[in-house]
Amino acid sequence: MAVGEFALIEQLQGRLGGGGKGVLLGMGDDAAWLDPAGQSLVTSMDTLVAGRHFFADVDPADLGWKALAVNLSDLAAMGAQPRWCLLSLALPMRAEGYSPWLEAFAEGWHTLAESTGVALVGGDTVATDGPLTLTVTVLGVAEQGIMRRDAARPGDLIWVTGTLGDAAAALDLAFVARGLPGYDFAGPATQAQALEARRLRPLPRLDFGRAAQAAGVACALDCSDGFLADLDHILKASGLRARVDLEHLPLSPALRDCIDQDLVRWQRWPLTGGDDYELIFCAPPSLTPALLNIAHSCALPITAVGQILPADSQPTESVDIYWQERPLALPGIRGHQHVF
Ligand code: ADP
Ligand code: MG
Repeated sequence: MAVGEFALIEQLQGRLGGGGKGVLLGMGDDAAWLDPAGQSLVTSMDTLVAGRHFFADVDPADLGWKALAVNLSDLAAMGAQPRWCLLSLALPMRAEGYSPWLEAFAEGWHTLAESTGVALVGGDTVATDGPLTLTVTVLGVAEQGIMRRDAARPGDLIWVTGTLGDAAAALDLAFVARGLPGYDFAGPATQAQALEARRLRPLPRLDFGRAAQAAGVACALDCSDGFLADLDHILKASGLRARVDLEHLPLSPALRDCIDQDLVRWQRWPLTGGDDYELIFCAPPSLTPALLNIAHSCALPITAVGQILPADSQPTESVDIYWQERPLALPGIRGHQHVF
């Protein structure tokens, strides 16, 4: 670490470095010392790069929230309980320094970290000639077992938490606001704020994920690259196919207002748009009453959107999409590729 980073690390330690369940030694030494108390560990890492995963002029408080949220979402998908995290910050040189930026970043991070019980126990801070880059590693514990992508079974219902497509629509609106060529979509201004909140501050579905796992759900993932692309990960890993009924995809009132009956928008936002951070999970119909109870107690709607089918010997597509019982051909479907 270079001399210039000492003050930033101290600032981070002051704002985020204290406490945490099972933290025997936190930030400040060569490594953290943690006690998972006999439970198995679940861990994941995600990197966010300025200009690719977020606008370089993002509000640092929103960035702090989102950097942690996207990682917690991976633990939610496993049904794990988050405990600790590590943060790598690669900061481009800038004349005004990073102290106020870091203060706001820490505030956004702290809001989510506190409500989810996750402690920052270490990391790294470096200067870079490249774009601002954040890497977060989360560590959690599995209290009973986990959910995985390869555990879908024929006959399972395919469920989605919350609503899909809001963040993708908000990103299109942000591109329009920034005058990007090719983006002329004009949504109702009243809905822009609700959509933007979903893009900037996704809510990891931790409580639901843990409860669903405990109730017997074996197969889940979090939807970050677009519903169809992520469902396809489950189907590939499980060696199966699926039917999805497009009209059942859960949409927020804000998205409903701007999607009309436009199939291009359906395709672009709830089906293939990224950054939803909802859970997609598969469960036998016998679990439906228990799942609806859990959803109710988490105040999180869940929606069955289709069913897992047996593998076909000669499959043309892994997902058959229907609109009101009629097969629908959607050419050229791709997941979100973070092209920006
Ligand atoms: P070392 O040189 O031994 O790798 P550093 O000087 O890089 O240690 O870091 C000092 C302490 O501050 C370590 O405990 C490290 O985990 C912590 N730290 C550094 N950067 C961050 C960060 N961005 N977030 C959290 N902890 C950090
Ligand atoms: Mg060291």
